Amino acid sequence: FFLQSPSLTLLKVIVLGDSGVGKTSLMNQYVHKKFSQHYKATIGADFMTKELQIDDKLVTLQIWDTAGQERFHSLGVSFYRGADCCILVYDVNVYKTFETLQNWHEEFLEQVDPTHPETFPFVLLGNKVDIDGGNSRVVSEKTARDWCVSKGNIPYFEISAKEDYNVEDAFLCVAKTALANE
Ligand code: GDP
Ligand code: MG
Repeated sequence: FFLQSPSLTLLKVIVLGDSGVGKTSLMNQYVHKKFSQHYKATIGADFMTKELQIDDKLVTLQIWDTAGQERFHSLGVSFYRGADCCILVYDVNVYKTFETLQNWHEEFLEQVDPTHPETFPFVLLGNKVDIDGGNSRVVSEKTARDWCVSKGNIPYFEISAKEDYNVEDAFLCVAKTALANE
């Protein structure tokens, strides 16, 4: 007899947020378990993949990174096309990166134009909570959570790509949220 093989699902996840908030670092930490202080504005690969199992489903996350074009908000159609989930990232120590979330959120909805924009899976990540033991943060958890509620209850995680804090949990939530919306 044969065991039924688990079904395989490919989910496209895109990561948006201002330059420098730690998008590439976050992906590297999650996929390669590596962190580098060296600032690389560009990276060759369009996306990284990571497989995980959720209940009886095998899920392949295809996580798309920007290569510096986020500075000009010019990411092109292929970047956005077919996205199943959108991760928004800001730096809890830089207020501007929190303010810009509004633009990234709007821009995503304009580009992707999902059938049900109000329930499209977004996940918000507040990165770099490790810096100065949290003493240099300028956006409180409450402020971030309030914004998430105003956008239809977007899940929120405070993370550190550097310390690998909450990174795994955040992506698990990304996968589950995207799957639930399939
Ligand atoms: P991106 O432009 O959004 O892709 O940001 P990068 O991943 O290139 O990161 C920008 C800078 O922030 C780099 O110098 C990283 O080493 C640093 N960085 C990223 N994540 C963290 C973090 O969680 N904590 C700290 N302290 N620095 C971080
Ligand atoms: Mg980057």
